[in-house]
Amino acid sequence: MTIRLAKSAGFCFGVNRAVNLVYDLIPTGGCIKTLGPIIHNPQVVEDLAQQGVEILDSPEQAKAGDKVVIRSHGVDAATEEVLRQTGAEVVDATCPFVAKIHRIVRTASQEGKTVLIAGNPDHPEVQGIVGHCQGECYVAQSLQELEKILKETGAGSVKNAILVAQTTFNTEIWENFINSAKKLCTKLEFFDTICNATNQRQKEAIRLAQESDRMIVIGGRHSSNTHKLYEVCSRYCPTVLVETAGELGTVDLSGAERIGVTAGASTPAHIIKEVLQTMSEITSNENFAEMLEQNLSDDAKLYTGKRVKGVVIDIRPNEVVVDLGAKQTGFVAKDEMTDNSDQSLDQVVSKGDEINLIVLKVNDQEGTVACSKKRCDAQAGYEEIKKAFEEGAVLEGVITNVVKGGVLVLSHNTKVFIPASQVSDHRVEDLNTMLKKEVRFKILEINERRGRALGSIRAVLNEERKAKEEEFWNNVEVGKKYTGEVKSLTSYGAFVDLGGVDGMIHITELSWGKLKHPSEVVNVGDVVEVYVKDLDPERRRISLGYKKSEDNPWNIFMSKYQIGDVVKVKIVSFTNYGAFATIIPGIDGLIHISQIANQRVEKISDILTLGEEVDVKIIDINPENKRVSLSMRALLPETDQKIVRSSDDNDEDEGEE
Ligand code: SF4
Repeated sequence: MTIRLAKSAGFCFGVNRAVNLVYDLIPTGGCIKTLGPIIHNPQVVEDLAQQGVEILDSPEQAKAGDKVVIRSHGVDAATEEVLRQTGAEVVDATCPFVAKIHRIVRTASQEGKTVLIAGNPDHPEVQGIVGHCQGECYVAQSLQELEKILKETGAGSVKNAILVAQTTFNTEIWENFINSAKKLCTKLEFFDTICNATNQRQKEAIRLAQESDRMIVIGGRHSSNTHKLYEVCSRYCPTVLVETAGELGTVDLSGAERIGVTAGASTPAHIIKEVLQTMSEITSNENFAEMLEQNLSDDAKLYTGKRVKGVVIDIRPNEVVVDLGAKQTGFVAKDEMTDNSDQSLDQVVSKGDEINLIVLKVNDQEGTVACSKKRCDAQAGYEEIKKAFEEGAVLEGVITNVVKGGVLVLSHNTKVFIPASQVSDHRVEDLNTMLKKEVRFKILEINERRGRALGSIRAVLNEERKAKEEEFWNNVEVGKKYTGEVKSLTSYGAFVDLGGVDGMIHITELSWGKLKHPSEVVNVGDVVEVYVKDLDPERRRISLGYKKSEDNPWNIFMSKYQIGDVVKVKIVSFTNYGAFATIIPGIDGLIHISQIANQRVEKISDILTLGEEVDVKIIDINPENKRVSLSMRALLPETDQKIVRSSDDNDEDEGEE
């Protein structure tokens, strides 16, 4: 006959933590009480009772000065409040995994979401979870119940909803829940809150039951997870549930060649040991106690460099305390958690989080294990970096350090060196200006032996620029409008970045008037609206238009004035055949010397002065040549008029723009 004990049999870390908390309180003195039995194990409860620990049935029974322990199942918010109001000292032993569910449902309810809980509505853990919901909340134990709730309430289809599970919920039923809910709902978010300890214990029990002729499940008859173990094992072979070794006498093991043993999360190691020893005596062919020691110590073997999983049980300012599932306690110093010294540790992890770690040092004398999350993440991160190198993929990261010859970028918890020549597509004078910037980069080289990588931001920028150029040339056409930034000015025009491609506005295109330099209209950094005037795809040249037809002064003039109109104009220049006067900005008209006065004018400056404003009549408009003729004389009384000709009559007789 062979007897095999499941490795996951016995106390889970949450129960272990709660029970130890009570035992640790006993030497501190005072009235120690637990709100309900600390675990579903009558032997442990009895032992505690003998040491003076009382059980309260309700929070109101607590008295000021009592030390009341909330068990690993947790309680609802109202119960905790009542307890505190009694004046008792509350010692919270809620398992961090359960506390995490409280946080999830509280946040979801505050966001107005409906909360669905997969679990037993009569279980204290579920009642505690319900008590942390601040809105609509339903509990479903079976698939039928869940489907009914989803259909009748519209949760997940009409209303936003979340689905969480009791930590000890059956994993197979949970998978059915998810599959069914996915078909019925589009607005349902799932949170797999089944505790790993439960999950592993159930899976291992199933495997063991499949390979055994008989299963023995050790645990309290009121323990939900023990019952679940019994239930899943029973599907594969005859299974018996015992609370203690004393019950083995009535168990018929005859004919069983392979016996499997597992135990619930609330079963202490000494009870498992007793059961195995008794079985050893019954079968008298194995030293099961030795086997138990072996079993209990296998997982606990820790050594430098071992990859382990730890559950966060405490967060201190400079370290995180983790349960490694071993007899030693794990510690992760702040600088082994994160590189970001500005972050506090509770921004990095929460109590109950399961994190991957590497063992740095085991101190058996002190019972401590120094671990590193950062190095573990970096190892996993390095694999990601290698993959990105092989696939030519673009990575994202943040520049964390300026070092000799370049910068370091943190990506996937791994630092990648970027040489100064590769940090940008232009020269960067001061690399410190790049600190804390989020960047995209490619890996150019990997040094496997040294575990180092060399990257380039420039490679990504160049690729992106080329892609933009291609896209531009595929879509550009004459007349298309763009918004761009003025990148540089020359004496003959302004260069504008149209999004990866530069175009030029010729100086004559910048204004309807005459310019001495483009800077009279635009400056470097200005964002301008332009349109494509002309294209040369082969030489990749683009001529841009800037000035708008609605700003054309001739059009403005023509829309406002006509022959016969009297306008006030400003004298701006003289010629020997007349004076030019500005009508509107950009449009000058000519007052011919014969149209200045009734009498003959020998010298224009005897009558007019530059800058002077005079009233004139528009006597002719020549749209073809864009010329305007003006007359002061036309505004004089006709009787006073006398034809007066200048000495230079055959000169021009029309104004010009
Ligand atoms: S949630 Fe898991 S670890 Fe916590 S008490 Fe329950 S079974 Fe144990």
